[in-house]
Amino acid sequence: MSEINCEETKRQVHEYLHNELSTQEMEDITEHLAHCDSCESDFDFEVLFNNVVQRSCDEAPPAELAQRIVDRIRQMDSGRADH
Ligand SMILES: [Zn+2]
Repeated sequence: MSEINCEETKRQVHEYLHNELSTQEMEDITEHLAHCDSCESDFDFEVLFNNVVQRSCDEAPPAELAQRIVDRIRQMDSGRADH
């Protein structure tokens, strides 16, 4: 299991946006963004996700990864609706 920190996330976010990372790296960053308030507010997760989807239009993103991202956004939304 790999863990990345905020610095690495911020360093790799451009590659993330350009869809230049491996599936594993994408997952690591997605996971970090989903759980890190600091990075999430820095990078507005939904904007990131929209960018990734747009960039991936020609290449069709791994459906499984896209589904996981959507699931995580939903989890975050339900968490927010709670307070
Ligand atoms: Zn972070």
